[in-house]
Parts: sequence; C-alpha cells; structure tokens
Amino acid sequence: MKNNGLTIAIDGPAAVGKSTMGKLIARELGFLYIDTGAIYRAITWKVLKNNIDINDEDTISELVSNTSITIEKTDTKNLNDYYHIFVDGEDVSEEIRDPWIDQNVSQIARLPKIRKQLIYLQRKLAEKANIVMEGRDIGSVILPQADIKFFFTASEEERIKRRYKELIEKGYNIGYEVVKKQIIQRDKIDSKRKYAPLIRAKDAILIDSTGKSIEEVKDKILKIINKFREYRKKQIENNII
Ligand code: C5P
Repeated sequence: MKNNGLTIAIDGPAAVGKSTMGKLIARELGFLYIDTGAIYRAITWKVLKNNIDINDEDTISELVSNTSITIEKTDTKNLNDYYHIFVDGEDVSEEIRDPWIDQNVSQIARLPKIRKQLIYLQRKLAEKANIVMEGRDIGSVILPQADIKFFFTASEEERIKRRYKELIEKGYNIGYEVVKKQIIQRDKIDSKRKYAPLIRAKDAILIDSTGKSIEEVKDKILKIINKFREYRKKQIENNII
C-alpha cells in the first residue's frame, strides 16, 4: 500500500508512550496521526454500552458493521486534546480512556472477525499521505509496507507508573495495583492472541524509553526519520525509485 507520502508505524505494549510520541512526531512533521487503539476502545465503549457479552464475536461483528467511527483533528496543538473520536456521531474521546475500557478492550481486540473488519477502516485512514499510525499490529499486519517502523519498549514498572500517574491526574480514583493488573493482563492477551498479536516486525527499529526523557526519545526518532528522508531524496534524485 504505497502512497506518495511517508508512512510511519509505531507498535508496542500498553502505556509505553506510543501516543505521546506519535502525536509529538506528527505535530513536528505536520503529519496525520492515527491512534488505532482508540478505534478498538471506541468499539469496546459501544459494546459495553449495549450490554453485549465481550466474547460474543458474532454480535460484536454485527455491531461493528453497523457502527460509524470517525476521527477529527482539533485546531489545538495541545497533545491532550489533539483529536476527537466519534461513534455514530457521538464524541467519545473522554469515555474511551476510562479504566473500565482498559479492563475490557483486549478481550474484544483478540476476536479475529473484529480485527479483520477493522483492517479496512485502518488502511483507508492510512491512504492519506504522510501519516504516523500507532497500535499493536501496524508494522506487521495493517501497514507491512510502512516506510519506517518503530517498536517501542520500556520496563513494565515504568509503564505502570506512567499510566497510574496519568489516571490520577485525570481524577480517577484507582489504585496502583489495579492499574498494574490491567496493564499486565492487557499485554498478555495482546501478545498471546492468535490473530495479529502484538509483535515486533522484523524490520522495526527498537526504541527503549526506559529512563529516558520524552525529549531524548523524540530527538532520536526525528533523527532516524530525517536520515530516511535524506536517503529517499537521494534515491529519487538518482532515479532509483
Ligand atoms: O493503544 P491502546 O492502549 O489505547 O490500545 C487499547 C487496546 O486496543 C490494546 O490493549 C489492544 O487490545 C487493542 N489494540 C489492538 N491493535 C491495535 C491497537 C490497539 O489490538 N493496533
């Protein structure tokens, strides 16, 4: 799925900083940012709202067929309000970040029928030129031809601390142990599922952010991207592509 722009894929486990970094990079480069986790969260929100069993693949699949999911970028540069996501026209940007969604989303995301249905939507979103798309299977399944693939990692402890801090700052009354359990469980389901598991694509560059500042990681990634752009420019100049 080549287009004329640059396609950047970011994958990695829960709370590893993919969203923060994805948005920062996209903002810096003027690229479109697509958070595919938000799509799975939006479906989960609708499933739970309709009291559907999270293991009922057929009913959820029907729900997905009858659901419209749209993503709109805001005018602000504020990373916490970078885009809004709508389910059948309703803005669910806040709701999908609730720990109740964290608790259930991976059960739904592991269902092959649902994943297959959502491939189309994700690829359609990625058709626009110049994108940063992040998730769990972007480099491996959704955009295997992505120009640059990153696989993020950070120690489990650091990831749990980050997510806990984020939720407390948002005003959620949640314990550290609950956050820990949710992250461990989510990673386990995401990496062990049969269809499109969380995996580092063979050609993905590993970025370990343990003990590193956001600025440090951002600089490293931008350096890699700029190097790639230079390389591509030379290839075009020399008529190689
Ligand atoms: O990225 P985020 O943590 O918001 O993703 C929420 C959940 O959505 C993940 O834990 C995973 O179960 C699912 N997901 C997925 N494939 C993706 C993106 C997210 O299975 N590409």
